[in-house]
Amino acid sequence: MGLFSSRKTVVVDSDVLVIGGGMAGCGATYESRHWGRDLNIVCVEKANIERSGAVAQGLYAINTYMGMQWNENQPEDHVRYARNDLMGLVREDLGYDIARHVDSCVHKFEEWGLPMMRDPETGQYQREGKWQIMIHGESYKPIVAEAATKAASKVYNRIMVTHLLMDKTKPNRVAGAVGFNVRTGDFYVFRATAVIVCAGGASHIYKPRATGEGMGRTWYAPWSSASAYALPILVGAKMTQMENRIVLTRFKDGYGPVGAYFLHLKTYTQNAYGEEYESKWYDHTKELVGDYVDRHPVPTCLRNHALLEEVKAGRGPIRMVTKEAFQDPHKETVGWENFLGMTIGQAVVWASQNIDPKHTNPELTTSEPYVMGSHATCSGAWASGPEDVAPSEYQWGYNRMMTVDGLFGAGDTIGGAAHKFSSGSFAEGRIAAKAAVNYVNNLGKEQPQVSEAEYEDLKKVVFKPMENYEVGRNEIVAGTVSPSYLLPMHGLQRLEKIMDEYVGGISANYITNEPLLTRGLELLEMLKEDLNHLGAEDLHQLQRAWELQHRVIASESVAQHTMFRKETRWPGYYYRADHPKLDDTDWHCFTLSRYDRESGEWEMEKAPVHHIID
Ligand SMILES: Cc1cc2nc3c(=O)[nH]c(=O)nc-3n(C[C@H](O)[C@H](O)[C@H](O)COP(=O)(O)OP(=O)(O)OC[C@H]3O[C@@H](n4cnc5c(N)ncnc54)[C@H](O)[C@@H]3O)c2cc1C
Repeated sequence: MGLFSSRKTVVVDSDVLVIGGGMAGCGATYESRHWGRDLNIVCVEKANIERSGAVAQGLYAINTYMGMQWNENQPEDHVRYARNDLMGLVREDLGYDIARHVDSCVHKFEEWGLPMMRDPETGQYQREGKWQIMIHGESYKPIVAEAATKAASKVYNRIMVTHLLMDKTKPNRVAGAVGFNVRTGDFYVFRATAVIVCAGGASHIYKPRATGEGMGRTWYAPWSSASAYALPILVGAKMTQMENRIVLTRFKDGYGPVGAYFLHLKTYTQNAYGEEYESKWYDHTKELVGDYVDRHPVPTCLRNHALLEEVKAGRGPIRMVTKEAFQDPHKETVGWENFLGMTIGQAVVWASQNIDPKHTNPELTTSEPYVMGSHATCSGAWASGPEDVAPSEYQWGYNRMMTVDGLFGAGDTIGGAAHKFSSGSFAEGRIAAKAAVNYVNNLGKEQPQVSEAEYEDLKKVVFKPMENYEVGRNEIVAGTVSPSYLLPMHGLQRLEKIMDEYVGGISANYITNEPLLTRGLELLEMLKEDLNHLGAEDLHQLQRAWELQHRVIASESVAQHTMFRKETRWPGYYYRADHPKLDDTDWHCFTLSRYDRESGEWEMEKAPVHHIID
């Protein structure tokens, strides 16, 4: 019997369980109630949904809005745009499905009180770019969370979900989830008929540029800890495009966003000597990727590529020319407000470094890689598509259901569909919820059954790091060092170093190859063995321990996918030095993986890319 076996177990029943109350989770919770008036809808969140997820500190723009009411764009246009940006590889059925529903979501945000900027002449939403509209979005998340809270039977805040539960009567069917309250330490068992995973993307799987005292500063939210991938992976759900990590060009040291600067303020970049540099790399890039370099707009990864090459050629730093735009007082205000509503840290960094963009052109740099399914990238779970548009190979069940029965996902969780952003993630949450409610209603008496033995075993596993600490601290030799446990921070730094050096992080200039990946996977295996000895001195550290576990399994998936795809599809995101060119003959396909938790083996396969939009 373990030291913590006396902990309270709380059992919660639900028809639909939403894991993660970020943008997708709020959309899923809201929509579940619309279709399932009498159902028991539960949302579980490790923070507090009022200020959780990647939108926690607010946004200045909603990046996905068609504007169909004003005939600005059609869903087909957005599919073409996302396909182009992802170098040809997107699930067009999923993207189309989101694009056709996203506008109505944005209209709801406005109805709920989100202040939208409008063009004073036309009265239409103020465009920042072709797809983006500008908002006064500091309170974006609380506004969306209020709607979800009102819709839910109950929201359980401060509960970190660690594992999914499987049905004891039918293989490959989900039956709920377990986790623990990060404040009280109670163990929670959520029994559910359908589960929608909306647990966000993954930061801190690669060593960040900001280390030491600044290591909390990353571009993607530091609390995005890969649960969205780990939870499904561990129950055998197929994943797709996990190699398609994203690298962002951002203002140096504060990761401040550049979109409003480029699109609205019309700023531009130059090298250290004041020269335009992107065109210099045109021929070189064309050799690598062919005609993709001629597409408009130039794919995000290729713009990174030109910057990286220019820096490698010794003509860095790259700067954004802000001095001209900031002479216009309106643009100067917009430039600063852009940070104040979204990334206040960038304004603080500039203040601390004596940078006034009116007088100094600030430096840009490329970030460490992140994994997510909602930005200019499309890693995540392989999901069934919408009945009316998905080709038969992409349809095996309900819309947004993974390859595990009853397990749905949305937002960063679902792979293959890039450029969802905040609004598209919310829309996808709604889409998944509608399907999940159908699934619940159609199931009738065939309800999944949770095994008490399974969750009792998991309870021991979940609290083991606290037990390890309790025992191991008696052997502390100096400071916090004990020979018998590993602290979550140490494990995290080890993970980040492995991913950085072997799987194409910043210190390797985003370069990897088969021998590096092979060694990286060996080191990840050793790290996994050591994770059995994680020590957590309190509940906060226990959360860190489980976040680390989730990051490690997601990282392994990234490494496996990177190994499998023998080409460099997205130069600027990462490079397979042993296969330096894009290869449409063999690799115009999705990569799929399935992890077998019994054997620890990964099965890899290719899936076709069907183009349903011309
Ligand atoms: C810096 C930055 C700038 C951005 N700029 C824009 C922009 O300008 N416009 C735009 O439209 N979009 C923008 N985005 C993108 C947008 O924020 C994301 O696309 C969107 O939030 C993804 O939604 P999601 O629900 O998948 O993830 P999130 O919104 O991150 O939600 C995930 C939720 O899951 C919870 N969670 C995680 N793990 C667990 C667990 N194990 N147990 C319980 N709960 C868990 C998290 O706490 C969180 O609440 C930006 C993102 C970032 C980080």
